[in-house]
Amino acid sequence: MALQNYQYDMIMRQFNRKQTRANRILAEHQANAFARCPRLRQIDEEIAALSSDCLRRMLNGEIRDTKGLRSSIEKLSLERLHILSDAGFPPNYLEPAYSCERCQDTGYIGNEKCSCFKQAEISLLYAQSNLQELLSRETFSRFSLSYYSDTKVHEASGQTERQMAMKAYDISRRFVEDFKEKSDNLFFYGDTGMGKTFLSHCIAHELLEKSYCVLYFSAYDLFEKLARYAFSKEESGGTMEDILSCELLIIDDLGTELTNSFVASSLFTCVNDRLIRQKSTIISTNLDLESLSQTYSERTVSRIMGNYHMVKLTGKDIRLQKLFAQRHTAS
Ligand SMILES: [Zn+2]
Repeated sequence: MALQNYQYDMIMRQFNRKQTRANRILAEHQANAFARCPRLRQIDEEIAALSSDCLRRMLNGEIRDTKGLRSSIEKLSLERLHILSDAGFPPNYLEPAYSCERCQDTGYIGNEKCSCFKQAEISLLYAQSNLQELLSRETFSRFSLSYYSDTKVHEASGQTERQMAMKAYDISRRFVEDFKEKSDNLFFYGDTGMGKTFLSHCIAHELLEKSYCVLYFSAYDLFEKLARYAFSKEESGGTMEDILSCELLIIDDLGTELTNSFVASSLFTCVNDRLIRQKSTIISTNLDLESLSQTYSERTVSRIMGNYHMVKLTGKDIRLQKLFAQRHTAS
């Protein structure tokens, strides 16, 4: 990612703030817990003394391993847990509350940037910093099956609209649960206003919460950005490489962009390159499969059909249903 020095400094300052916040909360918790249970402070001091004593003796060559130290610390930690539980504190009350457990809010794991650091870069470069806030209302728990008919049967699949929606929901949940283990791809298609964008927002929301590196674009914005990378030399923040290498790329509303040969070949590059790199992609579209093959190249469509979960949603436009319900209540 093409970060300039001042941008790198900005991100590092964010990480410093996160660490300061975690430390401040820990200090508050300690003050609180130590005031109520003074033994907890003694335990802390005993663990610190044991550790430094062990370190000194190892450096002097008096001992070789830390087995004894570990078992003493375990005993003290267990005692601490009992005291916390008796006093009604949660078991992790005296542990720092990092927003990213993986890097403990340092932004790095060893010499490698943590995915939360990469997400911070993306937020900065693509002005997506409001994405998380935007998505905060779009959670799986708000996905309602009541908008999908449980009597209307979709001819090709033989399932009711509600069964299809349920399946789409399950696939989306599983996508998030399995995200760490394997790269997978989803293709949401079907009627307008059936929750395709909503489900991809839910997925983005959950993965951003887990500090994965997610890039989200409407098809229109994505191809405009790619055209700028390809045809102009201006420094517009971000690179093609980010789009090809982020952990999850979401392309929303495919088919609403102006289609031309550049768009068709860029879509193939995105889809194909990300498959080779084993990076997950989600595409949503109102196009049916026939229009898809007419609009984009056959090789793109066949890559999608062969490597994406095809998830169809059908029914009556939810936005219209909501609007109708609102008017009905108002009148
Ligand atoms: Zn991290």
